Amino acid sequence: MNEKGNLSINSENFLPIIKKWLYTDKDIFIRELVSNACDAVTKLKKLMIMGEADHIPADESFSVHVVLNKEEKIMQIVDNGIGMTHEEIKKYINQIAFSGATDFLSKYEEKADGDNEIIGHFGLGFYSAFMVADKVEIDTLSYQEGAAAAKWSCADGIDYEMADGTRTERGTTITLHVSEDGEEFLDESKMYEALQKYCAFMPVPIFIDVITNEEEKAEEADPEKKDNTIHISQEEAATLTKDEILAKANKEEEKQEEEKEEPKPLNDPSPLWLKQPKDCTDEEYKEFYHKVFFDLNDPLFWIHLNMDYPFRLKGILYFPKLVEQMDVVEGQIKLYSNQVYIADNIKEVVPEFLLLLKGVLDCPDMPLNVSRSALQNDGYVEKMNSYITKKVADKLNQLFKADRTAYEGFWDDIGMFFKYGCMREEKLYDKIKDALLLKTTDGVYETVAEYLEKNKEKHENKIFFVTDEAQQAQYIRMFKEQGLEAAILTSPVDKPFVSFLEYKNPGVKVQRIDADITDTLQEKTEGEESEAKKQADAFANTQMENLFRGVLGNENLKVKAENLKAQNVSAMILLSEESRRMMEMMEAYGDNEMYKAMFAQVKPDETLVLNKSNKLVQFLMDAAGKEDKKEDCDMICHQVYDLALMSHRTLTSEEMTAFIDRSNQILEKLAELEK
Ligand code: ADP
Repeated sequence: MNEKGNLSINSENFLPIIKKWLYTDKDIFIRELVSNACDAVTKLKKLMIMGEADHIPADESFSVHVVLNKEEKIMQIVDNGIGMTHEEIKKYINQIAFSGATDFLSKYEEKADGDNEIIGHFGLGFYSAFMVADKVEIDTLSYQEGAAAAKWSCADGIDYEMADGTRTERGTTITLHVSEDGEEFLDESKMYEALQKYCAFMPVPIFIDVITNEEEKAEEADPEKKDNTIHISQEEAATLTKDEILAKANKEEEKQEEEKEEPKPLNDPSPLWLKQPKDCTDEEYKEFYHKVFFDLNDPLFWIHLNMDYPFRLKGILYFPKLVEQMDVVEGQIKLYSNQVYIADNIKEVVPEFLLLLKGVLDCPDMPLNVSRSALQNDGYVEKMNSYITKKVADKLNQLFKADRTAYEGFWDDIGMFFKYGCMREEKLYDKIKDALLLKTTDGVYETVAEYLEKNKEKHENKIFFVTDEAQQAQYIRMFKEQGLEAAILTSPVDKPFVSFLEYKNPGVKVQRIDADITDTLQEKTEGEESEAKKQADAFANTQMENLFRGVLGNENLKVKAENLKAQNVSAMILLSEESRRMMEMMEAYGDNEMYKAMFAQVKPDETLVLNKSNKLVQFLMDAAGKEDKKEDCDMICHQVYDLALMSHRTLTSEEMTAFIDRSNQILEKLAELEK
C-alpha cells in the first residue's frame, strides 16, 4: 500500500512562519513531540484500566526515549504508547493537525504584529518538528491486536507519503532528519537542558539515548563488560573447597546483579503537587523546593493548592526566605498544563503579587492557545486568581492565629511581600489586614490596631514611623526617652504602603518621626500659660529666627524655640509629612517635563526646632546680638543646624565638606583653649 498526497494548504506561509519561530523558542518542538509521546502512553494506560487492552500485561513498563545520532543527523522520539493505524494517521496527522495548523496560522498572523505573544506558542503540535528538521517520518504500530504497521514521511511540510511500516513493537517512533537549524539539539547536554525545561514533570519516564560510532556502541550495549570477574583473593581461595568457591562466586554474581542500578529517567513523572496535601511530608516539600528552584535555603512555609471543581488547579506556592531584600523581586512561578511546562512568571495568569514567590501552578483548564491580552480578560483566570488569593490569605491568618511568636519570626521575610500584595490587590488587604504587623522601635511586632490602642493616650490616631534607623537615630532616641515608639518602615515598598495605610484607615495619620513631633516631645507646662511667658516665648522665637536666618543666609527658614524633654538635643529639623512626600515625588519624577513646572513652585516646609532646655541653645539666646560673641555664635549656629540636618537627611558633598572643615576649626579652638 502506498499513498501520496499534498499538504499544501498553507505551503506558502506555513514554513516561513514555523521558521520564524526559530528565532524565539526553537526548543519548543521538544515539548510538543515528547508530550505527544507521553499522551500516547497515557491514552493506552487509560484503555488498559477500562479493560480495552487486555492483551497488554498489567505490569508493562512504559517510557519515552529521545535518541540522538549526531553523525547521521537524526533524532528520534520513541514511545511504546497507543500507536496509530493508517486511518488514524490520515485523520490526526494529515487532516486534523493541519486544520489545527490553519487555525493557528490565521490566529498567529492576526496577532504576530504587536506584542500579543501567544503563551508558550500553543497549538502547532506535531508540525513544530519542521522547525528543526527538513524531513520527518512516523513509524508506528497501533496497540490494537492485528494492526498493521504504518509509515508516514514528509519533506518540508509540503508533500507526504504513506506506506506500510516495519515497526514490530507497539508504539511510535518520530524520526527527524535534523536541518542546520536544529543541529545544536543533537548535543546531549543541549537536549538535556531542553527536556529539563519542558518535560521535567511529564507523566512518563523519559530517557536520552546517545548513539555514537560502532565501537562505543558495542561497549554501551554491555557496560559491565569491563568488570565482570569474580573477586576472590588468593589466600581466600587456598582455604576454600571447590564447592565453596563456586557458591561464593554465585553469591557474588547475584550481588552484582542486584547492584546493577535501573537507569533513572531524567524527569519526575509524579510531581509532588499532584499528591494529596495530607500525604506530603515537610521534608518532601522542602526537597521539591530545593530541586526545582535551586535554592539551598529552606522555604519559610508553603501553600499546597489542590482544587478539582469548578476548575482544576494544583500547585505549590513557596514563601522563600529573603537573603537580601532585592531577592524578593526574583520570584519564579512556573506554569504547567497537565505537567507540561508552559512558561515562567506569566503576569496575565497569576495574581501579580504572587510573582514575588516561588512555586508551580498546574492549570489544565486554562485556555492557553489565546493571546496574552485575551487571557487577561478571561473569566477562568479571574476565578483562579481569587481562589489563589483566598488560599494565600487563609494560610496567613492561620499562621498568625496558630503561633504568634513563630509568625513574628517570619515577618521580616514575608512582610514586604504582603504589603506589596495588599496594594496590588485590595481584596487581599481586606482578608489579611488583621494579620499585618508593624515592627516598632521597641523591638516588638504589633498590628495596626494594637499600635493605635497602645499609643492612644499619647497620640491618638497617629502612627509614627522611621525610614532609616541610623539616620533618624536622634529622633528615635528622643522618642524612646518619652516612652514613645515608631514603626520601622525601611523597605522600598513601605513608601507607598504608608499612603496606602492612611487610605485604608481614614482618620489615622501616618507620619514620619521627624514630621511634627513637637506636641509629643514638648515639656508640657502645668495650667494656663501666663501672658508674660507667652511674650517671652514669642520674643525667643523671633530672636532665634533672626539669628539663624542671618547666619545661614536663608531668609525663608522657619525657626521655633521649644522646651523639649530631651536636654542633650540642641536642635532638630521638622518637615511636614505632606511636604516630605512631595519632595520624595520630586525626587522620583523630577526629570519629567510635565512635573517640572509644578515642582519648581514647591519649597520644602521645613522648620528648625531649637531646644531651649539645651545648654548650647541657652548660650545662643544669651549671646545673640553681642558683638564680642559673634564669631562663636556664628560657628555654633552653623554647626547646630548641620547636626540637625544630618539626622534628617544625608548632607550634600558641599555641606559635608563645610561641616568637616568647621568641625576641625572648632577642635582647634578647643585645643587653643586648653593650652
Ligand atoms: P495535539 O497533540 O495538540 O492533538 P498534534 O499535532 O501534536 O496535536 O498531534 C495530532 C495528533 O496526532 C494527536 O492528537 C495524536 O492523536 C496523534 N499523535 C501525535 N503523536 C503521536 C504519538 N507519538 N503516538 C500516537 N499518536 C500521536
